[in-house]
Amino acid sequence: MTSNRLLVIDDEPANSATIGRIARGCGYDVIITTDVDDCRSRIMSWKPTVIVLDLAMPEMDGIQLMEWLAKHECQAQILIVSGKGPEMLQQAEASGRTLGLNMTGSLPKPLRLETLRAVFSEIYDAAGLLSILDISKALTNQEILLMYQPQVELRSGAVVGFEALARWNHPQRGSIPPDTFIPMMEVDEIVNDFTTQIVKMALADMCLWEGADAFNVAINVSAVNCGSMVMPDIVQAQCASKDIACQRITIEVTETAAMAEACHVSACLERLHRLGIQLSIDDFGTGYSSLVKLHQLPFSEVKIDKSFVLDCVSNPQSSVLVQAMIDLAHKMKKRVVAEGVENRETMQQLREWGCDIAQGYFISRPMLPRDVLPWLQQYDSGRSA
Ligand code: C2E
Ligand code: CA
Ligand code: CA
Repeated sequence: MTSNRLLVIDDEPANSATIGRIARGCGYDVIITTDVDDCRSRIMSWKPTVIVLDLAMPEMDGIQLMEWLAKHECQAQILIVSGKGPEMLQQAEASGRTLGLNMTGSLPKPLRLETLRAVFSEIYDAAGLLSILDISKALTNQEILLMYQPQVELRSGAVVGFEALARWNHPQRGSIPPDTFIPMMEVDEIVNDFTTQIVKMALADMCLWEGADAFNVAINVSAVNCGSMVMPDIVQAQCASKDIACQRITIEVTETAAMAEACHVSACLERLHRLGIQLSIDDFGTGYSSLVKLHQLPFSEVKIDKSFVLDCVSNPQSSVLVQAMIDLAHKMKKRVVAEGVENRETMQQLREWGCDIAQGYFISRPMLPRDVLPWLQQYDSGRSA
């Protein structure tokens, strides 16, 4: 369980969705509820750290719920929402304080994005959590680094590429994983600067490895980056300036991002494809693919998500799904990568099923750029021995 859990109690879907989106972007796990019983059981079992409470709900009175929270000694920070004017909000806040609750503030309806962001920022600043401002500083101070994880062709055992995985080397907190800070950036323009920096770093690292047999580098991009033509142009310009063939770059786009109904996403993918950049559909199996769209989009590769690969030897359901995904991808003339290969049995099984490429801890954990060449040497000498 992460330390920042936010429960939204609001019966207006548009409001709760907006609150949820902004809060997730700020790094919170979010649950939205409208039902009294569900709300109470979530508070008891999930123990939210922040509760956003709409005072006017059809089957529940906000003040009564606050009394219930006080009776159950709820420690969460409470933010109240109301469209009934500032006086109502002040009164409710005062009642909450009298009850001994941890009242953090109020949000007048209609909700404004800037207010939401500011309020959530204040809460996590106070709790010592990371904010978007810290990330922006991290980019300027070059605290973001890339680790590289090898990808091996199952038929031959040869290393064919590396996936670049971002880390935030925080001066006080040490290495922060991407799942913590990337979702925070995705609701902000900053994610474009971030991806530009990642592309530059990856291509600079590729120059560092000149001399080794040419291998591909896969770079992850966010859905937001596919919203314009800027990202393809940056990749192309960087390749040109470093004299690296665009064909050696694979851009990984999550299945959910690729399947978005937006036409600019398709246009961006088409542009990358026309430039000769390879496209991989990441986290395959976790989203909802339209098979027609999957066939139409210019992907050369399907990357089966590790949630299926991890137990594909022992779990019959994962086994069926992985085989079906390999089969489907091959029928669509796409190469298949399995991520999350943690042991020899999985590697062997995937080879038998005809999977093309494997990536996972069994081969290697992600490594620093300077470790790539020594690792390759050691790997190759192990193969020829
Ligand atoms: P992903 O693209 O699905 O990356 C695979 C994740 O699985 C990586 O976690 C990797 O370290 C981990 N992994 C690799 N092999 C194994 C294994 O054998 N077992 C297990 N249990 N895990 C394995 P990581 O590096 O923490 O990255 C998490 C996610 O963050 C990535 O998932 C990707 O969605 C995102 N990400 C990472 N770097 C970037 C980036 O530069 N840009 C963007 N937009 N997203 C990134
Ligand atoms: Ca990936
Ligand atoms: Ca994945």
